[in-house]
Amino acid sequence: MIIFKHTKDLVNYLQQINYSKRSVGFVPTMGALHQGHLSLVETAKANNGLVICSIFVNPTQFNNQDDLDKYPSTLDKDIELLERVGCDILFSPTFDDIYPDGADYKIEVDLKGLDLLMEGAFRPGHFEGVVQVVKAFLDIVRPSQLYMGQKDFQQFTIIRQMIDSLKMEVELVVVPIKREANGLAMSSRNARLSEANKSLAAAIYSQMLEAKSAILAGETITVVQESAMKALEAKGFEPEYFDVVNTSTLLPVDKRKKGIELVICVAAWLQGVRLIDNEIIEG
Ligand code: AMP
Repeated sequence: MIIFKHTKDLVNYLQQINYSKRSVGFVPTMGALHQGHLSLVETAKANNGLVICSIFVNPTQFNNQDDLDKYPSTLDKDIELLERVGCDILFSPTFDDIYPDGADYKIEVDLKGLDLLMEGAFRPGHFEGVVQVVKAFLDIVRPSQLYMGQKDFQQFTIIRQMIDSLKMEVELVVVPIKREANGLAMSSRNARLSEANKSLAAAIYSQMLEAKSAILAGETITVVQESAMKALEAKGFEPEYFDVVNTSTLLPVDKRKKGIELVICVAAWLQGVRLIDNEIIEG
């Protein structure tokens, strides 16, 4: 695996190897890699001639300084894991490489309100930062495929909208959520949970499955939602939302309709760690 720290070195290399003749798969991450990230790289390896993974903890998408300060960093281990799954290039740029003129600008794009609810409501400015950094990376790497995880449902939906709206020539590939054996969605932030809390955190997934069964059995969505929020609180979580939304518009629904795919999206704090997860309810 070749490691680049600067944009100009990566761009020079890609020009030299005439990379446009090879399909390029790109996996953006913030590091502290786990099997979820690696499944994105593995999917890219199966589809693309050249796979580039980036590690960059983007400050502009953090609305909470403490979360940014505590974000885990395990670069040596990340390199080892990426080599093991056959990643071709690691791009781990500096702030100045991604934001040569500073980060004080906004991408003008119509997100159709996808950024207003759920994560957008609880983390103001978060998606502006995500759109800004993904656009910056796509402009540098120019991949044919971009790989993102279903774990961040609202994030990939917004990036798909950005790609469509700006008519960018890249295909978005969404990879399913990787979970621990107990159902907890893998996340870099899980490293901050104690073993006991890792067991407890699996309740987010079981609560979603319970809600899904109730909705499929015809229960009213607001009733399901309220009881799930209460159950999570009773288990020691501080849930921010437990929403059931349309997968295309991300708007909340009050009733399941045949043919319309829904997704349960959850954000909850457990002992100072913010966890998110989601579960699709097929139409
Ligand atoms: P992050 O490093 O958290 O910014 O994540 C980088 C990419 O990995 C994003 O597209 C995430 O959605 C994806 N990802 C994170 N966790 C998982 C997981 N458990 N399963 C699948 N993809 C994931």
